[in-house]
Amino acid sequence: MSLIFFIKKPKIERGYYKMVIIFKQNTEKSVIEKIKKEVESEGCQTTVSQGKDYIVVGVVGDTSRVNFERIQANENVDKVVRVQEPYKKAGRHFHPQDTIVDIEGNKIGGKRLAVIAGPCSVESEEQIIEIATRVKQSGANFLRGGAFKPRTSPYSFQGLELEGLELLKIAKKETGLPIVTEIMSTDFIDRFVEDVDVIQVGARNMQNFTLLKELGKTKKTILLKRGLSATIEEFLMAAEYIMSEGNENVVLCERGIRTFETYTRNTLDLSVVPAIKKLSHLPIIIDPSHAAGMWWMVEPLAKAAVAVGADGLMIEVHNDPANAKSDGQQSIKPDKFDEVMKKVRAIAEIEGKEV
Ligand code: PEP
Ligand code: MN
Repeated sequence: MSLIFFIKKPKIERGYYKMVIIFKQNTEKSVIEKIKKEVESEGCQTTVSQGKDYIVVGVVGDTSRVNFERIQANENVDKVVRVQEPYKKAGRHFHPQDTIVDIEGNKIGGKRLAVIAGPCSVESEEQIIEIATRVKQSGANFLRGGAFKPRTSPYSFQGLELEGLELLKIAKKETGLPIVTEIMSTDFIDRFVEDVDVIQVGARNMQNFTLLKELGKTKKTILLKRGLSATIEEFLMAAEYIMSEGNENVVLCERGIRTFETYTRNTLDLSVVPAIKKLSHLPIIIDPSHAAGMWWMVEPLAKAAVAVGADGLMIEVHNDPANAKSDGQQSIKPDKFDEVMKKVRAIAEIEGKEV
């Protein structure tokens, strides 16, 4: 059976199909026409090719509104193959140049390596000021510290919450270091926008889409950590949620993923850096502390992160790790952080970056 269609020459967007629908061999012309019309009614263009075994419909244009799952459910459809990534704003395709995020003159992305350091949790005024002062002396550009803590156990320390934000502000006043801290829900979003320089979305909230959308309505820089079991595509789609609401100030952070290995807390996926650099224009930093879960692995992994082309590091530093309220086992002392910075600086230089 041969099917011949009169096809208006479609406007091919950048010369390739974005989506291909493959129909089974004996599909009725009327079925193909119906699906073609559905796709075209969403503003896309189609072309039909009749092969010996299959009928292929190529789709170009903005396919974001097409319900391909429903098309896939049609019994005449053999499969739907996507040719282009589903993230438009986070993707490099329409935005070839690297994004450099500017936080009051402190940049993430580009030539300078951004270093975010500080304790897992803010515990007291003395603690946060001492650590902030020390990491600044060693060359950190941002201060981290959790005020709202996502803990595995509800009985573990949950953070100082709003008091923690106040203490971070004091540390910023003392040192001038901009603050990076995690938001857990939309509850205090206005306070975070007011008080915080970079809002962190933790691994556990990477797919909290309500939170991502609300953060997308702000202009704050969002540090988006990769989910525990998130694929690179899911990671970039989470960034897309923020960006699709209008906030393009997104920094990605790899912090290790869940694998079958149990020796380390997580498995640091260093290949994500070149992958993200190819797929996206967004800056990507590495958190070796949460990745390994062991303080003595922080230095080698931090060095590897810089060598592989990361735009920055997030490192947990504590003045008294043995008595830290959270993540002491993976926190390095200020002296060790100073040493790590010296090593990292040397590698950054080889990579043509400054610290
Ligand atoms: C943190 O940065 O303290 C944290 C909880 O990280 P993650 O979300 O990567 O586990
Ligand atoms: Mn931590």
